[in-house]
Amino acid sequence: MAAETIFSKIIRREIPSEIVFQDDQVTAFRDINPQAPVHILIVPNRWIPTANDVGADDEQLLGHLFVVASQIAAQQGIAESGYRLLVNCNRDGGQEVFHLHLHLLGGRQLGPMLLRQS
Ligand code: AMP
Repeated sequence: MAAETIFSKIIRREIPSEIVFQDDQVTAFRDINPQAPVHILIVPNRWIPTANDVGADDEQLLGHLFVVASQIAAQQGIAESGYRLLVNCNRDGGQEVFHLHLHLLGGRQLGPMLLRQS
């Protein structure tokens, strides 16, 4: 049975994190192990474990996630240079934290989308 993750504690501000945006639907905070000069996680406040658990009821929420992502990209000064939005799902997707989140990565040339492995 899946359980809430550390991200729920960040959302509730029970543990420290560098939160850059929060409203009643989403929270955005800096990744603790950044892979680019800008690496921010945008997370629904409501716990959704993986992309597999997204349903029709989540359409507005996930649209809002993208609106917030684009606003943060502009605030971080990377809208014009560009950035990558990424969601990992389960083992093959490399998901480590089972609370759906959008990675916002930018501030450098990110290179090819995937490592070239067979
Ligand atoms: P994923 O592999 O897509 O599940 O990504 C999980 C991300 O969460 C990784 O990039 C981690 O560095 C990041 N992360 C894990 N714990 C924390 C934390 N306490 N605060 C901020 N980011 C975290």
